[in-house]
Formats: sequence, C-alpha cells, structure tokens
Amino acid sequence: DVVLDVNGLQANVDDVPILKGVNLCVRKGEVHAIMGPNGSGKSTFSKTLVGHYAYKVTGGTASYLDQDLLALDPEERAQRGIFMSFQYPVEVPGVTNADFLRVALNEKRLAMGQDEVSPLEFFALISRKLKQIGMKADFLNRNVNEGFSGGEKKRNEILQMVLLEPQLAILDELDSGLDIDALKEIAEGVNNFKSKDTAIIMITHYQRLLDYIKPDFVHIMSNGRIIKTGDASLALELEAQGYGWVTEPEQVTQ
Ligand code: ADP
Ligand code: MG
Ligand code: MG
Repeated sequence: DVVLDVNGLQANVDDVPILKGVNLCVRKGEVHAIMGPNGSGKSTFSKTLVGHYAYKVTGGTASYLDQDLLALDPEERAQRGIFMSFQYPVEVPGVTNADFLRVALNEKRLAMGQDEVSPLEFFALISRKLKQIGMKADFLNRNVNEGFSGGEKKRNEILQMVLLEPQLAILDELDSGLDIDALKEIAEGVNNFKSKDTAIIMITHYQRLLDYIKPDFVHIMSNGRIIKTGDASLALELEAQGYGWVTEPEQVTQ
C-alpha cells in the first residue's frame, strides 16, 4: 500500500543543489504535511515529484506505486494519478471552466485507455462531484481562472482534484491568500475528498491549515532535507515555538 517512496532525493535548480537527500514514504489513505521555513525546499520537492523541467534530479530514488517515478515524464505522472494543486494556474480567456475540466478529464481517460465522457455525461459527473465536496456550481460557466478571486482559484483546484481522482495529491500552500471562511470551505472540500485509496501531501508554512485538515504525519523540511517527523502535535509545537528549535542555526534567520 505504499504510494510514494522517496529515498535520498537530491535535486538542483540552475545547477544549485536545493534538495539534499529527502526521505519520505507515503501510504494509501495517509495525509502528510510538510512544513518548514521559507526557502527550505518544500516547493522544489513538490515540483521535482511532478517532473517540472527546471528541477534536475541529481541523486536518490523515488518510486510511485512500485514504479520508478523518475523515469516517467510529467504527463505520464499526471495520467497515472499524481495531481499537483497549481497545475493550471493560468487564465484561459474564452474557455469555460466546464470545458476546460472536461478536456483535462478526457485527456487522462484517453491516456488510461478509457472512453471519453460526453458533455452530458460530464455534466452529471461534475454535478455529483460538486455535491460530494459541498461546493456550488456557480463558476463552472466562467472562463478558466478569469477574474477568479484567490479563494475561487483554490476552490477550482479542489474541484479539479476531485474530478481527476488522483492517487497522490500534492497541495502546495493551499492556504495562501485565503480568509478564514474560504479556508474552511477549501478544507471541507479536501476532507470530503480524503479516502482510504488516496494519499495527500500538504505543504504549508503555517499551522493554521492543519487545524482544519488533520495530518497523520507532520514533517519538517530544512535546508533541503526532512529533518524531523512527528504526528499532528508537532505542528502545534512549531506554532508555539517557531522553527528555530528544530532547524539548523543558519536556517533560523531565513
Ligand atoms: P519553499 O517552498 O520551502 O519556500 P523553495 O523550494 O521555493 O522553498 O525554494 C528553495 C530554494 O530554491 C530557495 O533558495 C529558492 O530561491 C531556490 N529556488 C527554487 N525554485 C527556483 C527557481 N525556479 N530558480 C532559482 N532558484 C529557485
Ligand atoms: Mg524510505
Ligand atoms: Mg514554497
């Protein structure tokens, strides 16, 4: 039931080593939070996992559902069920959100050897998904991300996630720029999506998100490594004491 197994992962950005040996094992149904100071490598880790071209793996291994993750190109990773929250951050004028989501779903289905869903089938499916996560259908007919508020963009990401049914969801700074009501709504969406078949990695600088989405494990990243792992109480300790007591001295000032 191991979904992701990362051992000694090292990665460079512009020839600068950023990840310096990350170890992480994630099983089905688990929610892992990765916390850490700004610049510690959290986003680099998530982008390396999805295969972003700017992030070059220089050492270590990563397997996804018992396959060599690093041998898959980014599209294959997505098609095989890895979802990352800011996959589609762009505004797409003239394309409705519903059309966009249907194309994304059908791309994945075709890649998996499944039939495309028709617009009618898609409407039934998306209506069910919206209900599942407790969200309104009001932005389906708007253009993709055009004029969306920060909260609406995040809502849309959650909707994409629920629709694409990933086996591994990587949510980077899901809470950034959200007010408390939007945060609660987003968290409810994630909580309704959570299942025994899905693994979630949540990256967050702040403990606040973890009040609403309870992690099974909390990891602290510092200077390109996971330096401490605990349960949800570790996030509370961080909230109370800051990162200084766990991170290396040169990281404290960052
Ligand atoms: P975090 O998400 O924990 O705040 P990042 O992974 O974004 O940290 O950044 C880690 C380090 O890698 C920082 O020093 C940052 O400047 C550098 N870095 C990340 N992405 C890039 C990039 N695309 N180009 C240059 N440097 C980068
Ligand atoms: Mg391991
Ligand atoms: Mg980041």
